[in-house]
Amino acid sequence: MSGDDELNLLVIVVDTNPIWWGKQALGGSELTLSKCLDAAMVLGNSHLFMNRNNKLAVIASHIQESRFLYPGKHWAPADIFGESNISGSKDGKYELLTTINETIAEEIKDLMTNNIHRMTKEGKASQEIKSRILVIKAAEDSALQYMNFMNVIFAAQKQNILIDACVLDSDSGLLQQACDITGGIYLKIPHMPSLLQYLLWVYLPDQEQRSQLILPPPVHVDYRAACFCHRNLIEIGYVCSVCLSIFCSFSPICTTCETAFKISLPAVMKAKKKKLKLAV
Ligand SMILES: [Zn+2]
Ligand SMILES: [Zn+2]
Repeated sequence: MSGDDELNLLVIVVDTNPIWWGKQALGGSELTLSKCLDAAMVLGNSHLFMNRNNKLAVIASHIQESRFLYPGKHWAPADIFGESNISGSKDGKYELLTTINETIAEEIKDLMTNNIHRMTKEGKASQEIKSRILVIKAAEDSALQYMNFMNVIFAAQKQNILIDACVLDSDSGLLQQACDITGGIYLKIPHMPSLLQYLLWVYLPDQEQRSQLILPPPVHVDYRAACFCHRNLIEIGYVCSVCLSIFCSFSPICTTCETAFKISLPAVMKAKKKKLKLAV
């Protein structure tokens, strides 16, 4: 069991990509976005029930933006790390949980209608915060985000933040790497409508509790990187020495940072070039 001063923060990131979820709805899938959010809320609520030092944040990852669903815009940063947020109520309901569920439902409506808001958060300097991030992933990886994502993974690794991934649909090489590097669990769930069961079974236990459980075996990690030009997964490629972009074929100018590479061509090729210029 964790010490009294230690805060355990669980950050749940839910992929709310409307195109993917729209396709699911059209295809008559049993798992809808609202059911997925319900499952995420049950996991979040259960996490808060486990220990009074457990804290929760829920973030929606949308196409052009990410948004804190909880704590939402009506919440002060102290709500997430504060001590006074657990209070009973007359009807026996755990008030915090009701508020969380209402906040998340309200925020997701707001997000879907494209309003933008920002929230800053700050922890308490005196308490140690143990954090883990659970990504519930629906849509395909975007190679455009490859560099940002790798930076996030190494930042998380440095801060001992575990990244877990619960993948609903197609496998994600990026998340496999994230989980492998940070010591989290990567699982592509075999049956989408059972999302909640997998969340409670695999992702509710923290790192210490996990060692006592028999969880799904680790996956073979695909460490290939996606080229920035075609988004193909490649084993060998060209890397820009300035911005570290990866390309499957050589280009004299980096398309990401526009660095021009001065390559000393072999003498024969130089001669041919000159001839060509003369001919023109
Ligand atoms: Zn390419
Ligand atoms: Zn570059």
